[in-house]
Amino acid sequence: MTRTNAQVHLSLQTKLSFIVTLIMALALASNISIDYLNSLKTTEEAGFKKLDTQFAIFEQFTERSTELFEQELNQIPVELYLKTPRSSGLPKALSVNPNISELRILDFNGKELRVWQSANSTSAPKVLQQQLINKVRLEPKPASRIFCESQCYQTSFTPVIADSGRPYIVNGIRDLSPVLLAFNTLTNSDAALGNSPSRLFIATNAGRTKSLINELEKKTAFFHSDAPVYTNTSQGTTVAASRPLNDTLSHSALQLVLLFDDRDAQASIQSSLKNSLVSAGVALLLTVLMTYLALRRALLKLVNLSNAIPMLSDSSYDRLRDSLAKYTKQTRYNDEIDQLNYTVLDVADALEEMEGSVATHRQELLHTIAELKETQEFNNALVNDSPLVIAAFRLNGQMIQLNDYGRKLAGWEKSDVENRSVVDLILPDPIGHTILDNLKPLISGRETRAQSEQLIRNEKGSVSYLTWIHAKVATRSEPMILSVGLDVTERRRTENRLRWLSKHDAITDLLNREAFHTEATQLIEQYRDTHTIELMMFDIDKFSSYNDMYGFQHGDNMLRETARFIERLIACHTIIGRTGTNEFSALLIIDEDDTTTAEKDKVFRVDGHALRFYSALENDAIEVNITAVVARHQEDGETVDDMLSNCAATLRALKPIDRGKVNYISSQVDNRAARQEKVQMHDSIVKALAEDRFVLYFQPIYNLDRNRITHCECLVRMQTEDGRILAPVSFLDIAKASGLMPRIDYLVLKMALMQLRVWADNNIHLKLSVNITADTFESDRFIKQLQQLLTDTGANSGQLIFEVVETEAINNLENAKALCKKLDALDVQIAFDDFGIGFTSFEYLRDLPVDFIKIDQSFIRYIYKRKSDQLLVKSMVDMAQALGKKVIAEGVEDQGSAELLREMGVHYLQGYYISKPCKASRLDLNYTLPTI
Ligand code: C2E
Ligand code: MG
Ligand code: MG
Repeated sequence: MTRTNAQVHLSLQTKLSFIVTLIMALALASNISIDYLNSLKTTEEAGFKKLDTQFAIFEQFTERSTELFEQELNQIPVELYLKTPRSSGLPKALSVNPNISELRILDFNGKELRVWQSANSTSAPKVLQQQLINKVRLEPKPASRIFCESQCYQTSFTPVIADSGRPYIVNGIRDLSPVLLAFNTLTNSDAALGNSPSRLFIATNAGRTKSLINELEKKTAFFHSDAPVYTNTSQGTTVAASRPLNDTLSHSALQLVLLFDDRDAQASIQSSLKNSLVSAGVALLLTVLMTYLALRRALLKLVNLSNAIPMLSDSSYDRLRDSLAKYTKQTRYNDEIDQLNYTVLDVADALEEMEGSVATHRQELLHTIAELKETQEFNNALVNDSPLVIAAFRLNGQMIQLNDYGRKLAGWEKSDVENRSVVDLILPDPIGHTILDNLKPLISGRETRAQSEQLIRNEKGSVSYLTWIHAKVATRSEPMILSVGLDVTERRRTENRLRWLSKHDAITDLLNREAFHTEATQLIEQYRDTHTIELMMFDIDKFSSYNDMYGFQHGDNMLRETARFIERLIACHTIIGRTGTNEFSALLIIDEDDTTTAEKDKVFRVDGHALRFYSALENDAIEVNITAVVARHQEDGETVDDMLSNCAATLRALKPIDRGKVNYISSQVDNRAARQEKVQMHDSIVKALAEDRFVLYFQPIYNLDRNRITHCECLVRMQTEDGRILAPVSFLDIAKASGLMPRIDYLVLKMALMQLRVWADNNIHLKLSVNITADTFESDRFIKQLQQLLTDTGANSGQLIFEVVETEAINNLENAKALCKKLDALDVQIAFDDFGIGFTSFEYLRDLPVDFIKIDQSFIRYIYKRKSDQLLVKSMVDMAQALGKKVIAEGVEDQGSAELLREMGVHYLQGYYISKPCKASRLDLNYTLPTI
């Protein structure tokens, strides 16, 4: 509720004071009023009572006065008075009582005997006189009556027995004024006699009384009513009544009016009213004051409380507690407001606690909501965006739900799902068991979880490979099966392709060198006794110049055409492999008895037979000459290796004239010369080792994450006696074959560690890769030697990486694993060199704890142009990343390849594009790649 502007604040104190004052005032006023009215009434009644008394007094007083007057007349010495002469003036009696205006002596019959009259005497009416005489005569006792003419008089007839014994009647008339005056003096009341207010004969204080009677008559017409009046007049508060005069006193119908002033009584009422009002006022003031004092503290508490309570809504609990503090000190007599204070404090505590817990709950709620949101997003992403198929179905196979990805793979509409069976979705396994057959243990409850690898076939026919995990889920309504399938189609395809590639050459689809070697060895083993076996090595003449002239694409094309050419050429049982860049080898298993094939093969199995075909080139065709060298099994070599190396040596040694033709080794007596060459090279190597003529070249390895050179690879060079620098290709094979390799490797390792030390001393922190042959690497003393060299040179082992040619490393996997562990303990890292060539080792990658893989140059060099290389490299990068290995691409020769490799997620680049191998002094370590 909000306050409106029209509302006026009126403090409780004011309200209470006002109410107390009002109640008190009303109570006192009504009390005073009642008292006052009662006093008025009492006074009035007292007035009337007094008036009644006055009338009684008046009557008695008049009667008494009449008796005295009659006695006075009775005392008169009648006969004496009768004897006095008529002229002798008023007898003594009259002179003693000046009120007597007439005196008459009558005989008992009523005959007037003598009369004395004063000057202003008024005679009584004759009728009245006669009536009274008769009355006295009838009953001899005085009879008196009042009569009024212009004045009021009393006439009295009294029987008197004279001394002579004769009866007489004495009649006296006296003025009534003295009687009224005496009454007035006695009672302090005024009296008047008359017939009406306008005919008043006599009145005490005549002027004032008459005007008062007139005023009263006007006001109340009291004159002829018996009721007394008590009223305010111009003369004050007057009490008056008019009553007929007792007819024993009066002759005619005379009204007696008595009135008196009751102002004293009124004054006393007024004064008591005044006193009451004053004392009421004082009482009122005292009450208000007492109330105020009694309630002051309570009201202050209440005001304070009412000011404090709004703080609850502001959550200002401390302020509230402060403001209530001075009123909540312990007191002995707690009242309701104290209780209220404590209650408000309790409420504040509870509210504060509640707010605190609400805030905490709110925080927790927000946190939970955020978490839920994240979880929901995660779940949504998991259910719909990840390459996971999530399917739910009843135990009878009826589908309940299938996520987006699953529907995409199956090619189902959302509305299809519920009308389908899981059997329509997941194909039977190779033995023909449906998914429901496979899940029987799960459905029956014997197992809680099941796994399978089963396919999904799309409506359009394409197949997806999935690895499934199935679980039985108890829902409220019925149990169901929840199946989650990981789509491994891509991986499968890549694996298949890699598996295939591991044996084949991607460009020509022929066997690669390794596979050829393996299969050829097996075939020799199988047919050596029954068939003629020849190994034929083919080399495309001037292949590199074709490549340069027409581009790599055409070069690849030429390789493929050559492969097909060779395939067409040979009719007998054969295997053909691509054993070098432009080198092909075929193992011919010749069944001399099989005349058709033998006949056909005879055509080219002739020394000097020219081999050529035409390669299509846009609108032209170029002649491609193939040089072939044939090694006869046993004659020219026992093993495949022997035959291959003999062929290679013969190829290298062929004179130009022999190129483009078939050459039988046996006819090439020259291979002795080749052997001679080998021997010479061996001697040169031994000499160079002795004379310290091996030098290290360094090739930088560029870190794409950090955008700078962080590694270098050591590449060995041999300096000839005449100062030429020989690349490893010239001497390494011979060194390997003659067991010199470990010496070279240790020499290189020592020089590399010394270089590391020099760099460290110059504050250059580069890592150095050292190529090491498997023989050296696997020898028992390798680790010891390494530790010794590290100690001798003081180089940091953490800066060292060994490069082992992948195929060599896995020859003895267990050894390699153990060694890797030892190297890891020394903080030395390991790289797989020339990765991808063999492919046989791909699966071993996860078993060997190598840190880097170096993708072989042959995949990188033309990657910018070859889609197939891109696909291969991408899958190698993905696989390596999945296994947590860093990838180095070797043989990067141009910017396009560098950018492509960066996009693919390769971590390091090495190649002529960055730098050719050079001496340490010529390294540009601050090199950065130009950005596009
Ligand atoms: P690798 O370890 O794979 O070394 C890379 C080879 O590729 C080096 O040849 C290098 O000069 C070359 N190279 C680097 N970038 C490019 C490029 O962009 N284009 C081209 N076409 N080639 C590039 P190098 O120095 O002739 O070495 C050949 C092989 O000899 C090495 O291959 C390695 O297996 C072996 N080798 C070299 N030095 C040593 C060594 O000290 N000890 C051992 N055991 N083997 C060594
Ligand atoms: Mg290397
Ligand atoms: Mg390499």
